Amino acid sequence: MALIKDKGICIRSTDYSESSQILTFFTAASGKISLIAKGSRRAKSSFSAPIEICSVADLVYSLRENEKMGTLTEFNPTFFSIGIRKKLLAINCAFFAAELLNLFTKEHDPHPELFDESVTFLKRLDENPEDKILPFLIMFEISLLTYAGSLPMTDICANCKRKFDANWKQYFFSITAGGLVCRDCEPAYIDKKMLPYQSAMILNQPQKISDAQKTSLVQIEELLIEYMTYVLEKKPRTADMILRLIKNF
Ligand SMILES: [Zn+2]
Repeated sequence: MALIKDKGICIRSTDYSESSQILTFFTAASGKISLIAKGSRRAKSSFSAPIEICSVADLVYSLRENEKMGTLTEFNPTFFSIGIRKKLLAINCAFFAAELLNLFTKEHDPHPELFDESVTFLKRLDENPEDKILPFLIMFEISLLTYAGSLPMTDICANCKRKFDANWKQYFFSITAGGLVCRDCEPAYIDKKMLPYQSAMILNQPQKISDAQKTSLVQIEELLIEYMTYVLEKKPRTADMILRLIKNF
C-alpha cells in the first residue's frame, strides 16, 4: 500500500466514532477524495488538533486499491487563517466555497488550476477588507462553474445565439434558458429577470468586475446563487447566509 503525497483543502468534516474524523479534501492531484483521520479528535493525536474546514495543507495518505476511503497519515497546514475567522462575511464565503467545491466536483477528477484558484480565493478572503471581497467570490464561482462545465451562456443569447453586444435593446437572464437572453427571446422564459446593461456586461466580461458597482455585484451574486441552485437541484446550505450578508457590505 503506497503512501500518497498531495496538497489539499478540507471541504467537509464529519465526526466519526469517539475520536476520529471523516474528511473530504479537494486536492491538487486527485480532485475530491475522502480520508479518515484516526484519533484526530483526541487530545494527544498525531494531528496537533481536529482538522478544520477550509484549512489548506500538505497531506500524506494511504489508499488501498478498490477502496473508496483512504487513511490520512500526515497533515501539515500551509494556510490556516485566523484573519478569515474574525470576519463574518469572509468566513461564510470560505464555507460557501468549500460547500460549492464539494457539490460541483467529482471524486478522483482532478482540476489542479481550480485547486490553485481556490487557495488564491481563501488568501484573498484573508487579505482583503470585507467590503472588497464580493468580486472575488463572483470570480471564484465563475471559475468553478467553468471547470464543472456548467457556466451559463453570457457571450450569446442562450436561445437564438445572437452575439452579446451593447446594442441589445434590453438584457435578461434566465436560469432555464441557461444564460443571457435577448429581448426577442425573453417572452418564452417566465423565469427571466431583466438586467441593467452594467450587470449583463460584467457577466459577459468578468475580468472587468473591479469596475462594477455594488448594486451590480449583489444582483450578479443573487443570480449566480439562483442559477447554481437550479443546476444542483438544491440550494447550497450556506447560500441564504451569503445572500443576507452581502447586502451589508
Ligand atoms: Zn435571442
